[in-house]
Amino acid sequence: MIETMNKLMAAVMSLLLAFSSYLGIPTEKKIQNVILMIGDGMGEMHLKMTEDMRDISLVIDELPQQGKAITRSANKKTTDSAAGSTALACGVKTANGQIGSYWLEDPDFNYHSNTHPKNITEACMENGLKTGIVTTDEVSGATPSGFTAHTSSRDNHSDITSQQIKSGIDLIWGKTDGTLTEQQVTSAGYTYIDTIAEMNALTGNEKSYGMFTSSLYHTYNKNEYTPTLSQMTAKAISILDATSENGFFLMVEGAHIDKKAHDKDEEGSAEALEEFDNAVEIALDFAKKDKHTLLIVTADHETGGVTLNEDGEYEMTTGSHTSVNVPVRAYAPGNYVFIKNWDTIDNTQIPKRIAKALQLPGDSIPCEVLNK
Ligand SMILES: [Zn+2]
Repeated sequence: MIETMNKLMAAVMSLLLAFSSYLGIPTEKKIQNVILMIGDGMGEMHLKMTEDMRDISLVIDELPQQGKAITRSANKKTTDSAAGSTALACGVKTANGQIGSYWLEDPDFNYHSNTHPKNITEACMENGLKTGIVTTDEVSGATPSGFTAHTSSRDNHSDITSQQIKSGIDLIWGKTDGTLTEQQVTSAGYTYIDTIAEMNALTGNEKSYGMFTSSLYHTYNKNEYTPTLSQMTAKAISILDATSENGFFLMVEGAHIDKKAHDKDEEGSAEALEEFDNAVEIALDFAKKDKHTLLIVTADHETGGVTLNEDGEYEMTTGSHTSVNVPVRAYAPGNYVFIKNWDTIDNTQIPKRIAKALQLPGDSIPCEVLNK
């Protein structure tokens, strides 16, 4: 009986929706905002390690939709952050080291050589969404670069930052990489910030480029000038939400889960993950109140080969990346399914599913664009 009633209600609702669009009354989109949070190098075991070592429970693990992603790149079973970011931003596999570009040596390569794949940030901007990038890494680090630039190598830092200040993205905040001066940033039309006070003074009526000089990944402020990742995330959300008429896309990266794992520094990696989780909590609180926000938490690859050894201690078995599948977690409004529980998807699915959730035009991701 209840099932019949539910079916009847659903039929009435869809008739009403069809009728309102027939009358030209705009129907409100269910998902208007997407916050994609990337824990660089964050495997499933990093979550357990952080909970035990820091004696906390992670908000990441409370997110209702839980699955996994395959991370391999076009030319290697174990991806680097550049190919990983390209997959998560553009929905295509490329070779390790490349940013937002096709791997032209791919035996199955069937794109035109003078093209690059569009990233989800560009697709969102074209459709009138506000956009933002926040990271604890340098602004031209591999992960933010995949969402902001197209170049053959992750080492082309000047090329990447000069593309960023021409990109039109509303805010790009991270650590300085020394390739841009304040004057270059300002003359490109961006407000230059390098202190937490300047960040907090932003109104959102300006585009802003953050080049902080101290570590951003700690659970506390490194000094009086330096924000934490969760403070950057809170401010970015408030700016984008206050100024967007058609929704926003925000990518937040916790880069030091990976960086500390490269040194086999379990304590450092766990601290960085705790602060990343603090940022997730802020995003989740916003999404729950907003009711039109899709929150996704994932990783580009695992770093450190974290295991629980026979002495009951967490141990990093390598100072490199591994090829294990990484967590995908999501919180979505209503009954929207971003990932079915314990599904394993390819990482290239993530930007495609974001484009679908935001109802961007069908060919938005992946989509090839002629190089300028
Ligand atoms: Zn990475």
